[in-house]
Amino acid sequence: MGSRVIWVAPGCIECFWCQQLAGEVFAHGERGTEIRGAIRLDHQTSSNSSDRSPIDVAVLSDEESNFLQFVADGCPTKVIRLEGDWSAVGVADPFEGLDFGESGNPEVRKSGSPA
Ligand code: SF4
Repeated sequence: MGSRVIWVAPGCIECFWCQQLAGEVFAHGERGTEIRGAIRLDHQTSSNSSDRSPIDVAVLSDEESNFLQFVADGCPTKVIRLEGDWSAVGVADPFEGLDFGESGNPEVRKSGSPA
């Protein structure tokens, strides 16, 4: 399996979507979102746009990585970039298995009885 890289291109508007969903990967930096050194092979925290350091798979497993495509897709400015071999990871659907009922609202139970 090849290496996987995640980096952030210029244009982050600091909406905090990625940081709230995957705080173990994304950090708030002075010039926007950065990729935490804790999940990178070079252990540097930065946008990773020039370094392109691969993810340390000993730290971030395939199961944990498969959420990142969803996070990247939800970035409003599409500046989260995934490169390398993500074929073994796939794309997770975080809503899989949830029952949204007829209203489409996950907070309303199918029986119609609010919690
Ligand atoms: S989701 Fe995109 S725009 Fe929002 S904080 Fe993350 S990188 Fe920046």
